Amino acid sequence: ANYTPLTPITFIQRTALAHPSRTAVIHGSIRRNWAETYERCLKMASALRKLGVRKGDTVAALLPNIPEMLELHFAVPMIGAVLNAQNTRLDSKTMTFMLNHSRAKVFFTDKEYSGRAREALQGCDAKPTVIDVDDPNFDGGELIGTLTYDALLATGDDDFQWDMPDDEWQAIALNYTSGTTGNPKGVVYHHRGANLNAMSNVIGFGLPAGAVYLWTLPMFHCNGWCYPWAVTAVAGTHVCLRSPQPKAIYEALSKHGVTHFCAAPVVMNMLINAPEEDKKPFSQHVTAATGGAAPPAATIEAMEAMGVQVVHLYGLTETYGPSLICEFQDEWNSMDAKDKASKMARQGIISLSMTDMMVADPVTLEPVAKDGMSIGELFVRGNSVMKGYLNNPEETAKAFNNGWFHTGDLGVWHRDGYVEIKDRSKDIIISGGENISTLEVESTLYEHPAVLEAAVVAAPDDHWGEIPCAFITLKSGSDGLTEADMVAFCRTKLAGFKVPKKIVFADNLPKTSTGKLQKHVLRSQLTA
Ligand code: ATP
Repeated sequence: ANYTPLTPITFIQRTALAHPSRTAVIHGSIRRNWAETYERCLKMASALRKLGVRKGDTVAALLPNIPEMLELHFAVPMIGAVLNAQNTRLDSKTMTFMLNHSRAKVFFTDKEYSGRAREALQGCDAKPTVIDVDDPNFDGGELIGTLTYDALLATGDDDFQWDMPDDEWQAIALNYTSGTTGNPKGVVYHHRGANLNAMSNVIGFGLPAGAVYLWTLPMFHCNGWCYPWAVTAVAGTHVCLRSPQPKAIYEALSKHGVTHFCAAPVVMNMLINAPEEDKKPFSQHVTAATGGAAPPAATIEAMEAMGVQVVHLYGLTETYGPSLICEFQDEWNSMDAKDKASKMARQGIISLSMTDMMVADPVTLEPVAKDGMSIGELFVRGNSVMKGYLNNPEETAKAFNNGWFHTGDLGVWHRDGYVEIKDRSKDIIISGGENISTLEVESTLYEHPAVLEAAVVAAPDDHWGEIPCAFITLKSGSDGLTEADMVAFCRTKLAGFKVPKKIVFADNLPKTSTGKLQKHVLRSQLTA
């Protein structure tokens, strides 16, 4: 090609040249600058090549948020290989499936996950070389062996030159969907999409040069919503956290001058409800992105009250993480805190700069009226939408309609171009012919000061077809609350047909490995 292919590898190359002595990574007592980090990535790339990894091969990693995991995001594509960052919360059977399906050549793990790694390797015929990241004395036995990250790194050449991809559509990473319906599907990301998605997140999230980014979100999750690449592009600092507990998050905010982090709504709720003694003060301006599930307005309001500016993102594994964003509008500044939070939670989202979006009929692709009422399916297309699932042409064909990707989410399109997500198509409740957004009812329940978590699902009903039923967990010290109290509270806020007809008080709510509510489990409890 007579142009330079777009790739996120150029981000680290530029940053190491322009800001060699700026801090790249902080993890416990480890602190490395960009020159050192780039050098380690080059050396690891060289070492992997010597180990036999070739262009197009998969390198799997089952690791927490540690500097080595970040380095692999650059080292692996430097030799044209593909990184499969595995979800550390998955069961070993699914891991075996992913290792076999992607024919992984190398598998990085560490002592925290070596037990599950060994289980996964037992049924695995891909036979990857296993690298243990952190323990030089660890003998993993026959299946894991004794090769450590540092020993492998030492075999790399100092003067290694990385390969520019021949083509920017070359695969860079592989991310599996959680596989709630059948085997997980391997979503293939390419260099171009990774570069552009990172860039549009820099713009949308407003990442400034030198941002200090705290890793509360797992790096495996949609490749950490693209931030390994985005934060590197702005020559920022990655503050790694092995286990993102609220106390550790507050400590990092106060100790390292963190300016940005990402957290799913459940993590934000954990931060809000953390014991007061864990809430270390911080004085810098902090911006936090939330998404992955609908953030209740009450959560956004409470975060903003703590001095954290919230940015609301929407995306899927298939869109490299965030592809739509709720851009803050200046007029919202004059609103009171509650109205502002509800705008940010529900008013909606617009496309990040590199993605096209529309709300349309799922079959005809006819866009719905921009009237804030007509419901349609949300479709996306563009640079940071996957091209397809690995070795799965049937599912790939089903995922697209005429080039537009089916998100499976329903929403309405407002006159100003913003989209409001109403629900997943499989979760929306249809009661007596009326649509009920479970997200709207949940958001209302979160406004109650005693509610810790809420999930709303359809219960079958002879008369109405379906009726809304709520499962809630309460904050400690709220024991006296009754079903009638909650119903009365909802009546003051919601139209009658949206008020839950049944409230179940639960000790906890079932969640997926990425912390999302498993509504199908709750629905089956109602019909059992
Ligand atoms: P699976 O891996 O089984 O496909 P999943 O559907 O949760 O699981 P993800 O790609 O992890 O897949 O999540 C994408 C979904 O998360 C979206 O389709 C949407 O339903 C939900 N989601 C993400 N961000 C938001 C948001 N800001 N508001 C509401 N829902 C959201």
